[in-house]
Amino acid sequence: MKLILLGPPGAGKGTQCKRIIDKYNLAHLSSGDILRAERAAGSELGKKAQRYMDSGALVPDDLIIDMMIAAIKKAPKAGYVLDGFPRTVVQAEGLDKALTAAGEEIDAIVELQVPDSAILSRMTGRRSCPVCGQVYHIVNLKPKKDGQCDKGCGALVQRKDDTPDVVDNRLKTYHAQTAAVVGYYKTKFPILAINADQEIDKVTTDVFEGLAKLAR
Ligand code: ADP
Ligand code: AMP
Repeated sequence: MKLILLGPPGAGKGTQCKRIIDKYNLAHLSSGDILRAERAAGSELGKKAQRYMDSGALVPDDLIIDMMIAAIKKAPKAGYVLDGFPRTVVQAEGLDKALTAAGEEIDAIVELQVPDSAILSRMTGRRSCPVCGQVYHIVNLKPKKDGQCDKGCGALVQRKDDTPDVVDNRLKTYHAQTAAVVGYYKTKFPILAINADQEIDKVTTDVFEGLAKLAR
């Protein structure tokens, strides 16, 4: 199964992806996670991406397309969920081209819908595990022990781009450049539109039910 998860920053893509990949045994291909790993490794790509990420702008399309196509090529046969990619129509076209060349196709798009008003508190309250990538929230999804990953990895961190100013820029970037990706896919694939302005477990239930219906 090959899925794309779309939605604004803070919609819950990473959170729901972890549950989808566990259930269906898929790979989680998050462009944001891959970029953060490149930065942590001090790679050329990581260095190039840094200033865009820190300001809440998008990293240039050519860098992202190459990076994500390479990740897709390495993904296991069972399939993957794309999280945070594609974020522009140019990236969507790049993905289409690469998949067509490989004789493959996306099975479905999941769109997590959340109003802007819900986003700021989600992102400023987000805490992540730098080791396993598990995402928590200081109110909505607390770790068992304050500030510590439940899986025993160690201390949780707050992302530098989860400050109010950068969140504001990321939302503006989403509306200016990423929202159009939903329209691009509307005529091509089934889109499962999910109300993601609900409790995390209810969103998961709706996603699983929607995917099961699509598979029938
Ligand atoms: P994205 O990957 O779309 O940027 P995340 O999955 O990292 O979003 O979620 C952003 C923050 O919001 C996290 O702290 C997460 O725990 C929290 N969150 C995710 N889904 C919900 C939800 N349905 N209701 C409340 N908080 C949520
Ligand atoms: P995320 O973890 O998805 O919130 O992404 C964090 C940051 O990484 C974004 O604000 C962008 O700067 C960059 N980024 C992630 N995915 C992409 C993408 N598909 N295209 C361009 N920039 C991206």
